Amino acid sequence: MKGYIEIEEELCKGCLLCLAFCPKEAIAVSEKINAGGYTVVSFNGNGACTGCAVCALVCPEVAIEVYRA
Ligand code: SF4
Ligand code: SF4
Repeated sequence: MKGYIEIEEELCKGCLLCLAFCPKEAIAVSEKINAGGYTVVSFNGNGACTGCAVCALVCPEVAIEVYRA
């Protein structure tokens, strides 16, 4: 199954939990800093995302939406 995610950058606190738990290495640290001063993560679109939703489950800020295609 293929999937993708959307990250609400203004909610992200840069904790990197999603990056650590993603089994497909589909999330990376970005160069963006949000209004709160946090360095946010981004979906790297490597084509490996399965839509497993682990990232969304571990995100303490509920900043990730998962879509399955
Ligand atoms: S849905 Fe799963 S594979 Fe896709 S980015 Fe999140 S943790 Fe990684
Ligand atoms: S788990 Fe949530 S708050 Fe933490 S880096 Fe990922 S998107 Fe940002």
